[in-house]
Amino acid sequence: MIKNHPPTQFLADYSAGALSLAPAISVTTHLQFCDQCREAVSGLNALGGELLSDCEGIEISSSLLADTLDQLDAQLDDTPSSTVAVPDANTLADTELANEIPDYLHKFVGRSTLNWRSLSSSVSVAPITVGETEYELALHRIEAGGRTPIHDHQGTEVTVVLKGTFSDEQGMYHEGDFLIREAGEVHQPIAAQNESCVCLSVLSAPIKLTGIKQVLNPFMRFNPS
Ligand SMILES: [Zn+2]
Repeated sequence: MIKNHPPTQFLADYSAGALSLAPAISVTTHLQFCDQCREAVSGLNALGGELLSDCEGIEISSSLLADTLDQLDAQLDDTPSSTVAVPDANTLADTELANEIPDYLHKFVGRSTLNWRSLSSSVSVAPITVGETEYELALHRIEAGGRTPIHDHQGTEVTVVLKGTFSDEQGMYHEGDFLIREAGEVHQPIAAQNESCVCLSVLSAPIKLTGIKQVLNPFMRFNPS
């Protein structure tokens, strides 16, 4: 049972195409689990379509249209053809992981990008490269009964639970739950005792460890590319 959903404004921005790629992936991931938000988004999409169709068309001169199309062509010529690396889904290295993440995520999580790194004895992280510079997208895995270091954030952190359960000071979260932690909030996620927990996370700025920053901080940071 999903109890935590994206805020309405987040869904509206998603529907309007106003989110950048990593946050949009976090919403798409939640929608794989959540009928309620999927319905809300299709409602928003329909509303957006109606608003557009209500707009009265205006006449434009043929030369303006031609100039605009020329400019678009020129811009397209300047754009590199593949700014987002999409590895072959068949190259997914970790077959166990393949069962844990929604199908559509596989195209971002190929052998070339999935690189699990230990943060502690019970926590590991695998950055996902989507050509995003503003946000860091990653999978986090907490082993059964494991806990992450206590940490706070310089920016916003979005977490979507893909598999298993974890809890922190504010509650317990299950598959599909969508959480936002704002800058300055301190928390310590702990996985359930009986199974490991895998989450998709989006960070708008590097997280900073509280207290033991100097020991662990270099391992928490990874560079988006
Ligand atoms: Zn939802």
